This record gives sequence, C-alpha cells and structure tokens, in this order.
Amino acid sequence: MESYTEVPPTCKRCHLPKPERAHHCSVCKKCVLRYDHHCPWIHNCVGHFNHRYFLMFLTYLPIACVYFVIMGAGPFMLAADPNSDDNWPYWLDQAIVAFSEVLAVAIGVAVGGMGIWHWYLALTAQTTLEQYNNAYMRKVCKKRGEKFTNMYNFGIIGNFQDIFNIGPRGHYPWYTALLPIRIPPIGNGKRYERSGRGYILDFGDDDEDMV
Ligand SMILES: [Zn+2]
Ligand SMILES: [Zn+2]
Repeated sequence: MESYTEVPPTCKRCHLPKPERAHHCSVCKKCVLRYDHHCPWIHNCVGHFNHRYFLMFLTYLPIACVYFVIMGAGPFMLAADPNSDDNWPYWLDQAIVAFSEVLAVAIGVAVGGMGIWHWYLALTAQTTLEQYNNAYMRKVCKKRGEKFTNMYNFGIIGNFQDIFNIGPRGHYPWYTALLPIRIPPIGNGKRYERSGRGYILDFGDDDEDMV
C-alpha cells in the first residue's frame, strides 16, 4: 500500500489491493499484474513479469517449425513415396518422419497465428482483456465523433522497448531483445507510465474472467 499515492480498488475475490491493469485469475486464485490470460500450456498466467518470455516463445517456436519443415521436406517426400521401403536411408521410421513434418506444420501455423495476434497486442500496448474494452470504447468514441487513444500506448517502437526493457526508458542494450535470457520488465507492474493522451477508462470493479 505504501507504493500508492491513492488507494487502489480492492479485489472482490482475494480482498487485496488491485493495481491498475491487474486482474484476478480464477485458476491461480490470485491477482496477476498486467494480466493477459491464463495459459494452460505453460500452466501459469501470462502477465507483467513473463510477457517477454511468452512473446519470445511465440516467436522462436514458429521459426523452429519453419526450419524443421524446410529441412524435413526431402525426407517427408521420400517417406510419402510408397516405394521408399528399400532405399530408406534414415534411422527413424517413415511414419515418424512423416508425422513429425505434419506436426511441425500444424504447430507452426497455430503458434505462429497466435504469435501474430500477441505481437499486435504487445506493439499496441494492450492486454487480451484490455483489447476487448478498447474495442468497445473505440466504437463508443466513433459514435460520438471522437477518436479513441489507448493511454498506455507509446507507439510501436516505444511499446516494444518497454516490454524488452531496452531503449531510452530501458536498462539493457538492444540486442538483449533477441536473447532468451532473464531480464525483468520496466517498472514494478503496479503503476504504469501514461502517454499523456487518451481516455482514462473506468470500467468499475469488473471481476469477470474473460478467458
Ligand atoms: Zn484477486
Ligand atoms: Zn492464472
């Protein structure tokens, strides 16, 4: 509480102060700073402190899939040939090679699509939940003849730098954005710098999980 200038709203579920952009996760049973979503695949929430690693995962996995698909195209074509039994040069079975190639395409497309979506959110400074609210506010503003701007948005480059803790506000050199190493995000996750424009959105105590 000492870090707040004003008393933040209280979470209805865990009865603790709920900082801006935080949301209660019904699976983890606690409030998560800059909550994005609860990911069953990593059995954890994606939020303020692990957003960087989540984005890297969504980037490097599709790249690995593309590499695998290209390198495995030759063996896959051979495995698909019904006459390949006699001249099959690989240690692994044809079925496993063919299945791996199909799996790499499927995972590459699925995770790649999710990666594009999450990069869009990250570069526009929105969490998955905020994106719903912002889309609604955009419609409301349009009806009023006004233009909605997201107050956490510092532009594509600024948002990128904030997530990876680089650039003028960051503390690390630019190339660390490429490395899967442990780097904390900018800020404590409880208060966020605002771009000085846009709406202050007050949606009240919306504790519904929108996952
Ligand atoms: Zn809570
Ligand atoms: Zn969670």
